Amino acid sequence: MTISRDDWDELGFDTLAVRAGQVRTSEGEQSEPIFPTSSFAFTSAAQAAARFGGEEPGNIYSRFTNPTVRTFEQRLAALEGGESCVATSSGMAAILATCMGLLRAGDHIVSSRSVFGTTFVLFNNFMAKFGVETSYVSLTDYEAWEKAIRPETKLLFLETPSNPLTEVADIRRLAELAHSKGCLLVVDNCFCTPALQRPLALGADIIIHSATKYIDGQGRAVGGAVVGDSELVGNQIYSFLRSAGPTMSTFNAWIFLKGLETLKLRMRAHSENALVLAQWLEQQPGVARVHYPGLASHPQHELATTQQSGYGGILSFELEGGREQAWKVIDATRVISITANLGDTKSTITHPATTTHGRLTPEERRDTGITDGLVRISVGLEDVADLQLDLARGLGV
Ligand SMILES: *Cc1c(COP(=O)(O)O)cnc(C)c1O
Repeated sequence: MTISRDDWDELGFDTLAVRAGQVRTSEGEQSEPIFPTSSFAFTSAAQAAARFGGEEPGNIYSRFTNPTVRTFEQRLAALEGGESCVATSSGMAAILATCMGLLRAGDHIVSSRSVFGTTFVLFNNFMAKFGVETSYVSLTDYEAWEKAIRPETKLLFLETPSNPLTEVADIRRLAELAHSKGCLLVVDNCFCTPALQRPLALGADIIIHSATKYIDGQGRAVGGAVVGDSELVGNQIYSFLRSAGPTMSTFNAWIFLKGLETLKLRMRAHSENALVLAQWLEQQPGVARVHYPGLASHPQHELATTQQSGYGGILSFELEGGREQAWKVIDATRVISITANLGDTKSTITHPATTTHGRLTPEERRDTGITDGLVRISVGLEDVADLQLDLARGLGV
């Protein structure tokens, strides 16, 4: 026996993380199988006609549905507390599918200014080309969000905590604002994952994931997902995906669904390591400021404590010595990897001003707080003492 959807309400997060969505085949396999097949065979011409006509449920072709992908989708839906989930080929494909599924020319997006760099590019260079305009506001300026909403606004879009400054937005408050204006709230939940934050329960309508990050958690595969209700996600966004094709590969779905099984354990360990490292960094000479929601000095520390069940694995800090000192600290590392990816078991370090945020003008960087001395770390699962030693070398302590 495997658990069914009807059981979800009665089961806890940890049970759903390892059990939800599994459908055992007649082989009785204990671990979920991979179904590497592009199409599915029918028992008769009549069955093929019934499947194509939508009268009989079932698989037709893996651009539409695939059993391994479905197991991942079901499991993530269960963990986020959503009716529907669709898996995509990347986190960006999840954002694209959401826009293409829900918007039309003339519609408007209000987005946090502190979103993933490529999300910016997607909105400004591509959605704009098809007549969807985007306005940007400070993540934590609620008046600015309200002012930016127009009659044609359809989506409010944000990430919380933000990258790389870890600002935290009040999801409940922005969900209320969105709904009072007839808009939907879209939350990119990549940094916390459902293990630490469940935005749907706080009123958000749509969840975006880059599964590439913590859901995989081991830096192996690129993928994404959208979670929400059965009409918006299960119908409108899914309809775009099955026609346009940025669906998740079967093999990647298997990696991600196994990743979900250890997600909470990993997120707790990432959070513990990050808090110790953030507190240590605050004590080091030459470090002007540390950004981490778990620190009492963080401006939204209290909100993060009530909204999240952990503070996550991402922190950033500002060095008094500017870019030169930032590069020195980065170049002195031997354990931590110099790469912009995040959410890996291996810690990563990056200089946002010259990499992920290098496309912004100096003024835009100043407005968004990306100083030349800012360094971001995605804290992995190594011994924190080793990470401290690795950073101490460059800090000269
Ligand atoms: C990485 C990332 C994305 C994009 O995901 P890909 O899987 O790289 O396409 C979107 N949002 C956030 C917050 C991310 O960190």
